[in-house]
Amino acid sequence: MLTSIATVSISGSLESKIAAIAAAGYWGAEIMESDLISCAASPRQIGAMLRSHGLACTAYQPFRDFEGMTGALRQRTFDRIERKFDITQELGSSRLLICSNVHPDCVGDRDRIVADFQELGERAARRGLQVGYEALAWGRHVWDHRDAWDIVRRTDHPAIGLVLDSFHSFARKVPLESLRDIDPAKICIVQLADAPQLYMDELSWSRHYRTMPGQGDFPLVDYVGTLQDIGYRGIFSLETFNDRFRAANTATVAVDGMRSLTYLQDQIARARSADVPAPRVRCSGIEFVEFAANEAEAPRLGRMLSTLGFRRSDKHLRKAVTRWSQGDVNIVINSEIEGFAHTHDMAHGASVCAVGLRVDNVPAALQRAQALRIGTYSQPVGAGEHAIPALRGVGGSLLYLVESDGGQAIWDSEFEPLRTDPDTEDGALQAVDYISQVMPFEEMLSWLLFYGSLLDLHKTPLIEVADPLGLVQSQAMESPDLQLRILLNASAAHQTLSSRFLDKYMGAGVQHLTFRTADIFDSAARMRRQGIDLLPIPQNYYVDLEARLGLDHALVEKLATAHILYDRDASGEYFQYFTRAFDKRFFFEVVERRGYQGYGAPNAPVRLAAQARFRTEQ
Ligand code: MG
Repeated sequence: MLTSIATVSISGSLESKIAAIAAAGYWGAEIMESDLISCAASPRQIGAMLRSHGLACTAYQPFRDFEGMTGALRQRTFDRIERKFDITQELGSSRLLICSNVHPDCVGDRDRIVADFQELGERAARRGLQVGYEALAWGRHVWDHRDAWDIVRRTDHPAIGLVLDSFHSFARKVPLESLRDIDPAKICIVQLADAPQLYMDELSWSRHYRTMPGQGDFPLVDYVGTLQDIGYRGIFSLETFNDRFRAANTATVAVDGMRSLTYLQDQIARARSADVPAPRVRCSGIEFVEFAANEAEAPRLGRMLSTLGFRRSDKHLRKAVTRWSQGDVNIVINSEIEGFAHTHDMAHGASVCAVGLRVDNVPAALQRAQALRIGTYSQPVGAGEHAIPALRGVGGSLLYLVESDGGQAIWDSEFEPLRTDPDTEDGALQAVDYISQVMPFEEMLSWLLFYGSLLDLHKTPLIEVADPLGLVQSQAMESPDLQLRILLNASAAHQTLSSRFLDKYMGAGVQHLTFRTADIFDSAARMRRQGIDLLPIPQNYYVDLEARLGLDHALVEKLATAHILYDRDASGEYFQYFTRAFDKRFFFEVVERRGYQGYGAPNAPVRLAAQARFRTEQ
């Protein structure tokens, strides 16, 4: 696959975009007119810049409002395009891309349009250039790639080719099978963009919501697979107009684009059972969650864990690291005064610095991470310690990879058991149910791609939750057996709990950890006896709950007394309660699922309001 990206897809100056595109490993870059116009360098200098970075200039684009013009307008259009031919040549490119006409005065007469392209073909051929023609989803007369292909086919000129853009094809719901009618030799370039399924005008949808393949809802695997089936071996170029990408880190989005193309090829190859690298990593749960906490924070965090029924069960043989256990949950508190956890604590304060995932095959997982350009992390290990492979995850935290059956060996060889306090009452917690991470709004798609391309997780539909001070987007990623669930949260509003977390925490990270119990009322009672500080839920919620769901009054009273929230759907019932936050940053949740598979979204506004109230009361 010849990989390319349009400069409009990422943020920054043209110079920084070109550097990031080269560093991410693309074959070429499409130079967007708006980037060229605002650049201080001449087209020749920009062309030299691309070559010095080892990049091909895939194309110059776009030329607008070409075909079907009449009279003086037609003459002016041809004069205009000669100037764009000059720039294309100065850039050192051989391709100029034309979008279908949206001008109010253009005519849709097919013969006249074909004649325009035949004349254009002659002019382009004299300069050794090729022109690609693209049907915009909002073109005045041509908005369907089948019509654009008909025009290119009838023009029948070697200098005139077809541009396919997956966004336009999917936005207009053009049947995928129509790609099979196209002569692959006539395809000039294929532009790729995914997008969430939205119901709005195509122009706004395209300009603001395009994403990298795999971040949206379009079946890009089928699109690209079909083009490869018909023998297309040319350029695939990402063209993603997206408000978040415009605000995000240039290098990150450039690497995300390459990651999305790698993942796309991987899925196509896998669908064809070809010789392919390691599959997406299967996770069978969470071996441990590691908190970084300094000497002052660690005892307070330990007390909070005690109220949740965790026992301080083991101590590291050589380090200031303790293990707190309950059910299948292992929490590690790392108070070392050097190393990764210490650095994390210095930057963020007490916080989750790492999550240990149980995976099927660690070497294969590392191979896949490398193919996806996911960074690894290692630090010196002492004698007798396991070197646990780690990947760099959200907000600089780590994802440790532990063989599914290898966790016990680590605990046995590196930790010694402690005499546990007989007064600590178990909190009836069984396992980590899900991990909730908060990230900047412009990074959310990046982490969605990170998790989805690396791990065998699927995304559930995006949910929008009302915080008292703005909307929060919430996206769940789940393993097929539901042993690993990760919730990604982000908000474009500055005062939501999610955004305040980012300020307070100095970056992205785990905002809350949710534990599963088999009996929520028993669990809550045990924790009350330990003196847990639960988030109070207002009585109005329970009055509404009883009326809304027709619940038994005695059950509602029981829920209200224990500050337990309730939801139900077609598959079952859900119970949840929350602790107050530790240092106003992270908090814990306990849930009981009786067949229910969601995350209590209807209760989230009530919880967020309760947390906001708690914050202002403090
Ligand atoms: Mg396009």
